[in-house]
Amino acid sequence: MQERLYNFSAGPAVMPVSVLKKAQEEMLCLPGVGASVMEISHRSKPFDEIITAAETNVRTLLAVPDNYKVLFLQGGALTQFGLIPMNLIAGTDRSADYIVSGTWSKKAAAEAKTQGKVNIVWDGKVSGNGFRRKPSQSELALNPEAAYCYITLNETIEGIQYPVEPETGNVPLVADASSEIFCRPMDVNKYGILYACAQKNAGPAGVTMIIIREDLLDKAAIELPSMFSYKKQAEARSMLNTPPCFSIYMLRLVTEWLLHDIGGLDKMYAINKEKAALLYDVIDSSNGYYKGHADKEFRSIMNVPFRLPSEDLDKKFQQDAAQAGLMTLGGHRSVGGLRASIYNAMPREGVVALCEFMKDFQNKNS
Ligand SMILES: *Cc1c(COP(=O)(O)O)cnc(C)c1O
Repeated sequence: MQERLYNFSAGPAVMPVSVLKKAQEEMLCLPGVGASVMEISHRSKPFDEIITAAETNVRTLLAVPDNYKVLFLQGGALTQFGLIPMNLIAGTDRSADYIVSGTWSKKAAAEAKTQGKVNIVWDGKVSGNGFRRKPSQSELALNPEAAYCYITLNETIEGIQYPVEPETGNVPLVADASSEIFCRPMDVNKYGILYACAQKNAGPAGVTMIIIREDLLDKAAIELPSMFSYKKQAEARSMLNTPPCFSIYMLRLVTEWLLHDIGGLDKMYAINKEKAALLYDVIDSSNGYYKGHADKEFRSIMNVPFRLPSEDLDKKFQQDAAQAGLMTLGGHRSVGGLRASIYNAMPREGVVALCEFMKDFQNKNS
């Protein structure tokens, strides 16, 4: 078998090896079942145990309060860009506030406009010097009558995180946590809706987790197709139709790894901070050879975009890194340069290998 490389992909992204091994072990036959998870009814007892365990793990990891539902839906984060306004503002005069802090929140605002009134309360392209920082509370003129206020917690492409989430008073805070979920402990009480696609930090593509406060289930003003209705999905425990069984099974294994191998999100957070510090330290000690994209205070501990003194060097870096077994370091087109995604499952050794490579590359190419 070919050797696994250190994979810095932004998503779908690296998974814990022990999780992949467990899935491999059970690929042909779930213990006591006689078939794999892909071959049994989603209405069966073994699958009920899997989806229940996945939900219990999510609730335990994030201390999800009882007045929140946890949904496992299909269609990725982008589908939620549409479902959120569909369920909360479509067909009403109410508007939603959107904080545009990067590529993903910009896209979410554009999608929301297809469903209702959207108010861009801050645009980081202009006010954040090209999405290099998040807004401070004093920059936000929020509408106290808004149906919700929307944020993207970690902007995966620009590599910026909120040091603290905006304060929205009685207006429900709705957050895309796709590349933030499980990287640190979170206070779910702060949110009306907290959601994340799985393929960054929670499992493979195919399932999206929606943690939603119960009073928001019932806000739809227009009649929605069942699959688009949070209320109907919650009533059916995300099983109006066949759910993404395999992805939910994998999410269960990843959350088990977080709980039992890592020891919870406090521990995961400490590990993540240390890994990110190693990498940012190399950037900061390079005398400007490596330039990070984000303003320091807003640096993401999950995605680290940076560039070298020229585009040619960016290209050479990426090629030489691949030769050295460090894969998928290309940056997103809109930011350019390089990006190292160092999600939960990226081992510390992988980050150390990248740091050593960076120092060596600078010595040889400056
Ligand atoms: C990856 C990502 C998305 C898009 O997710 P899909 O599941 O591909 O729709 C949206 N928001 C953020 C913050 C992301 O990192």
